Amino acid sequence: MPVIHWFRRDLRIMDNTALAAACKNEAVVPVYIASGWRESHRWTGAPRMEFLCGCLESLAKNIEAIGGRLIFRRGRADEELEKLARETKATAIYFNRDPDPFGRAMEERVAKMATRLGIEVHSFKDAAIHERDEILTSTGGPYRVFTPYSRAWMQAEKPPVQRAVRKLATPRGTRSLHMPTLADWGLESAASIPATGEKAARKRLDDFLHGPLLSYGANRDLPAGRHTSCLSADLRHGTISVREIHSRCVLLAREAHADRRKSIFTFINELVWREFYMQILWHFPAVLEHEFNPKWRNLKWRKPGADFRRWCEGATGFPIVDAGMRQLNATGFMHNRLRMITAMFLTKDLHIDWRHGERYFMQRLIDGEIASNNGGWQWSAGTGADAAPYFRIQNPWTQTARYDPEGQYIKQWLPGLRDVDPAKFTRAPAEGEHLAKDYPPPMVDHAKERDVTLEMFSEG
Ligand code: FAD
Repeated sequence: MPVIHWFRRDLRIMDNTALAAACKNEAVVPVYIASGWRESHRWTGAPRMEFLCGCLESLAKNIEAIGGRLIFRRGRADEELEKLARETKATAIYFNRDPDPFGRAMEERVAKMATRLGIEVHSFKDAAIHERDEILTSTGGPYRVFTPYSRAWMQAEKPPVQRAVRKLATPRGTRSLHMPTLADWGLESAASIPATGEKAARKRLDDFLHGPLLSYGANRDLPAGRHTSCLSADLRHGTISVREIHSRCVLLAREAHADRRKSIFTFINELVWREFYMQILWHFPAVLEHEFNPKWRNLKWRKPGADFRRWCEGATGFPIVDAGMRQLNATGFMHNRLRMITAMFLTKDLHIDWRHGERYFMQRLIDGEIASNNGGWQWSAGTGADAAPYFRIQNPWTQTARYDPEGQYIKQWLPGLRDVDPAKFTRAPAEGEHLAKDYPPPMVDHAKERDVTLEMFSEG
């Protein structure tokens, strides 16, 4: 009698907790169930679905290489798992837990269905090193501030990294649909996304560990060039495990000199931010609907209109903001510093409700992670857990001077500004001054809009 392994956001065979446990059984039916587009369109978009399809293709090959066959189904996970369990006479369903509320709701349905069928359900922690309510304050409550959370996280014992599954036998004749493609969801994507799958993720990790990691502390805020890991989409889809990334960093830190060790721990701290936001979402799922900080639940945000569209398209007249949005639209990725600058611009310069930006990011990002994205947006809007105080408003001109002084990043994403003196990117243009023929003047005056924001927050 086989067992089922339900693949979700764990698209790998190396260090996959639930898959390793399922493979202790003689026969395993590994299945991926593609959900309908209508249920997911608020939280995803074509670039991420394309990344997902690439990961699935690579996963199918990896499973074939160890003797199995990845089964594809389409529909609601609990219904499809029920059909599959009946067809294959499976005795159990194995899966890794999802950190977001939608995934959790589905897990509850699956558990009910399994009880009805009289089969077992085995769920595992996998997407995070420390999940849900594992890291709590001394009084047993959730952390709301990052630094003490991070301290407690660093001290907690870490789960081990497991080997890749080497053998997987899938019962013959198990019915499978074709591998999902973008066309199945009626989507097209023009974004140029990075290589997908486990092998590509490990190469990204290797390149990062032996290069940018060593100066990560000093350079991670520079958007031009490659100074960060670019592993967020891999973490999102589980083409590499966070345990593997963390344990390889810790090994390197043991051998490294003090300054390099500091860089490595600065990087590990970013992995902790990811789990900080996951536990915020676990304890406070209502952050998806309203502001984490109750004090800011009645702010008079503006509704999106033509100005929102200009922000989406990267046509605000602020070169650093536009370069960020063009990078996002072209690649499904945006550097962290730019995510902060563009999010602050939408909320503090255009006063548009952060939820619109949150949704646009989810629809464009290949690493769209509900917890981190909501956390990042609420941080930038000044409404979130341990957020930037509302009066600390980033100035796009000075941010440019600090993080892109030579205009390399701006010129990469706005080639029409290639010949402009980069000093002009670091201040508002004088009246009548144009950076380039087809480039618009700034759509707002940052200093004035800053005052509007301060007033908006003072009125609460
Ligand atoms: P690195 O600097 O190499 O960091 C390593 C890993 O740590 C990342 O891959 C990511 O998993 C995690 N990480 C780093 N910074 C953060 C952070 N501030 N919060 C949470 N996790 C972090 N990250 C997402 O993965 N998905 C999102 O949808 C997302 N939306 C964001 C929206 C806004 C408005 C902001 C300000 C940040 C958002 N982030 C999001 C966090 C961060 O920008 C990205 O994780 C990072 O840019 C990914 O690039 P990297 O892998 O090279 O990061």
